Amino acid sequence: MTPETRPAWYRTLGWTAGWLALALLAGLLLGHPWPALALAAIAALGWQAWRLRAFLALMASRQRPRARADRGAWGEVERQLQREHEDARNRARKLLELLRAYRALGDALPDALVVVERDSQRILWFNAAATRLLKLQHPADTGAPLGERLQPLPVAHWLAAGRNAEPINEIGSPHDPGLRLGLRLVPYSEDIWVVIARDVTRLTRLEQVRRDFVANVSHELRTPLTVVHGYLEMLDPTEQPAWAPMLEEMQRQSQRMNQLVEDLLTLSRLEAQEAVEDEVVAMAPMLATLRREAEALSQGRHEVAVADEAGADLLGSTRELHSAFSNLVSNAVRYTPEGGRIAITLERGDDGGAVLAVTDTGFGIPRDHLPRLTERFYRVSASRSREKGGTGLGLAIVKHVLGLHQARLEIDSEVGRGSTFSCHFGADRVRPRRAAGRPA
Ligand code: ADP
Repeated sequence: MTPETRPAWYRTLGWTAGWLALALLAGLLLGHPWPALALAAIAALGWQAWRLRAFLALMASRQRPRARADRGAWGEVERQLQREHEDARNRARKLLELLRAYRALGDALPDALVVVERDSQRILWFNAAATRLLKLQHPADTGAPLGERLQPLPVAHWLAAGRNAEPINEIGSPHDPGLRLGLRLVPYSEDIWVVIARDVTRLTRLEQVRRDFVANVSHELRTPLTVVHGYLEMLDPTEQPAWAPMLEEMQRQSQRMNQLVEDLLTLSRLEAQEAVEDEVVAMAPMLATLRREAEALSQGRHEVAVADEAGADLLGSTRELHSAFSNLVSNAVRYTPEGGRIAITLERGDDGGAVLAVTDTGFGIPRDHLPRLTERFYRVSASRSREKGGTGLGLAIVKHVLGLHQARLEIDSEVGRGSTFSCHFGADRVRPRRAAGRPA
């Protein structure tokens, strides 16, 4: 019994005792004390039974309880019930307000949110943006399988991939081909996942404008640069010894500009491609070409070793793969001091794939720089890159080429010891070695 209920309980006890004492007194006066006491006890019990019945009826009615003006134990029980009821109503009202606020928040978001049941892939809830971007209708689509509703988007397949599902960066909306969507899957509990769709139309257009701009500028620069470079090459510094240092510098810089424009055009071409035309890339001649290139660039300043241990060829584009591998080899030579070693190896991976690795004993790269190395124009040291004739685009080209071959680049490096750049190809890109390879 709590301290608040105690007085009501004592009051009821007091009243009952008083009633019985009064009945006994009246009985004594009338000469029949015991029958009077028994009658009074029956009446008191009857009163309690009647109050209990009224209380049970109140509970059963599920109506808002109203406490009577009773200062006894039953009145206290009714007041407690009324308080509980008020508290529950307040809690429900607050929850409802919170739910409304979350709903309004969900509807105010510019991205489409669709809550999906993992196993059945059925839609549990979606916000207003999902109606705008994915044309989901409430209530007709609640409970429908999301993959079916968004056909022909490969959503069912993507949901089936589960936690391994890679975000879809850009895909046309099933209802409006002009609308470009980015899709992400966020598993937020074991059974319930959220699909987030974002309108990336503007972003895609801007990206296209940027790509076109870079491609057009590079293209426009190419012809005048070729002319200037051609004439500069024709000039012989020995004929004008006073101008020799200037002329050599001009030739070097025009060569750099040419290389920059060529690299920008290569990147633009790669970005515009969604896939490569597959052919069997003969790796023996490819490795021989890479060795020749490394030796030509090194001019005998490095030891160059090639190990062909895979005994397999690759499936992809010979031209693009050559461009990627040759960038890695050129970097290895340029960022390794004289006397260093460059190793080019082709091996089979554990998963049945193949790995082409270029290892050097050069300057190495500080760990902090590794994640950003494949960004355009990202250099660990801009002055060293320029001095070595770099454009800052080589690794960006490598990343794009590997992306087109569903391969990945891994970089392992230690400052002062050297670096290994390895290209990992999946098993579906590996083909048994042909007897006679075509030159790369
Ligand atoms: P760059 O034309 O400047 O070489 P890349 O995109 O090929 O541009 O490489 C980006 C940067 O990564 C380089 O500027 C250099 O700092 C670093 N880098 C690339 N390869 C190596 C390597 N083998 N050893 C050391 N640093 C490297």
